[in-house]
Amino acid sequence: MSATHLIVAEYDSTHLKNATLSAVTAAQKIEGTVHGLVLGKNVKHIADAFAKHVSQVHYAEHDGLEHRVAQPYAKVIADVAKSIGATHIWAAATAAGKDMMPRVATRLDAAMASDISDVVDTKTYKRPMWAGGLTGTVALSTSIQVITVRPTEFVQAAANASGNVSNFAADPGPSTTRFVGFEEVKSERPELADASVVISGGRGLKGPEGFKQLIEPLADQLNAAIGASRAVCDAGWVPNDWQVGQTGKVVAPKLYIAIGISGAIQHVAGMKGSKVTVAINKDPEAPIFQVADYGLVGDAFTIVPELIERLKALA
Ligand SMILES: Cc1cc2nc3c(=O)[nH]c(=O)nc-3n(C[C@H](O)[C@H](O)[C@H](O)COP(=O)(O)OP(=O)(O)OC[C@H]3O[C@@H](n4cnc5c(N)ncnc54)[C@H](O)[C@@H]3O)c2cc1C
Repeated sequence: MSATHLIVAEYDSTHLKNATLSAVTAAQKIEGTVHGLVLGKNVKHIADAFAKHVSQVHYAEHDGLEHRVAQPYAKVIADVAKSIGATHIWAAATAAGKDMMPRVATRLDAAMASDISDVVDTKTYKRPMWAGGLTGTVALSTSIQVITVRPTEFVQAAANASGNVSNFAADPGPSTTRFVGFEEVKSERPELADASVVISGGRGLKGPEGFKQLIEPLADQLNAAIGASRAVCDAGWVPNDWQVGQTGKVVAPKLYIAIGISGAIQHVAGMKGSKVTVAINKDPEAPIFQVADYGLVGDAFTIVPELIERLKALA
């Protein structure tokens, strides 16, 4: 029997997120019809954009769905999944996807595979385990399956469809969860998870000033996003949403530059998909050099300013 896929869209105020298009690619590995779902307020333009990638988009606008609160979202996603007879319900394994989808699985009494890195067949998936040190293969045995997708492992689906867009009346139901506030960090830099160049700093930068002195000017030169190790996020030197790693964001840029980062397995779990990795560390034995394509042994406070000057000269 052919599958019916339902992909839950994530978006910012203007754009469908690339991570959602990676979830579409994962779903397309299983033969079937691909439906998209867009929930929120004033989201018709997102639904229209999504229709370029899937055969049918369902969208609903409701005050109770204005903010991405997992409880009402999960109810509506489950309702739509039932109404279209979805066999596979997908979302990107972002903070929002990880929050919503287990609730969807519970509502549908469905088995779930989280943060998958590959699709083997209609019910079997690969997923990184133990900080990416192992790849597990999981088979789901329920008739409905819920899956979250590691975006960096799948290319983004092409815009080669012209799907139907239809509006429906959603019922988010009563909620015991209340939206309190959302503080968006506005940045001129590319988003960490989507950037093609990421410069990350660690404890070797000595403090927040190190980020200002070294990481920010280097990122400016390379139009890069800024990442960080957990140690410096925990210390409050930089915002938590800069954290790359097992318990932070997973990134796979074309170029990853790790400065003053030891390369603990939990950090490497979040960046090892990078195409080219450069490490700058004063300790030649630092584990980061085992995953780096290029390594510079030395003091970041000497090397990075010189690198910035050379880049400026090239610009
Ligand atoms: C369950 C769990 C989950 C975790 N999740 C994450 C995660 O998501 N992301 C993450 O990053 N970590 C994570 N960690 C923490 C991880 O184990 C490490 O503690 C952390 O990554 C270390 O950060 P660091 O490399 O900045 O600091 P350190 O390990 O202290 O390394 C600092 C490095 O800087 C170098 N250095 C010092 N001075 C200079 C200089 N002047 N110039 C150049 N180099 C210099 C040193 O040689 C050293 O290699 C997790 C840990 C656990 C237990």
